[in-house]
Amino acid sequence: MNIPAIKCGDCGTVHPRGVAVCPACGSEKIQEYEAKGEGEIHTYTVNCFVPAGKFKDRAPYVIAVVRTVENMFLTALVDTESPFNIKIGDKVRFRHYEDPLTPVFELAS
Ligand SMILES: [Zn+2]
Repeated sequence: MNIPAIKCGDCGTVHPRGVAVCPACGSEKIQEYEAKGEGEIHTYTVNCFVPAGKFKDRAPYVIAVVRTVENMFLTALVDTESPFNIKIGDKVRFRHYEDPLTPVFELAS
């Protein structure tokens, strides 16, 4: 599944939606773009704290920085049955946005 994103018309970099100018070059020539939903775990942590609210039933869960194949970095949840077996470099694929600020990935293998 593709990731709703933006692409810079000047430097060509891809970024998460929500910026008015390109964070890489400052250009205002940005447009909506469907980014490839494939990537890997750049870094991560396993949250064992049981939070109040909608993530209560998720703990423990993986919060990762995912680097997509188009070099876009997203702070995201990674759904997995075994959160303590996650490794940097694991391949992931985009599933959906849980809310406008929370992309959710799953392991690709
Ligand atoms: Zn740019």
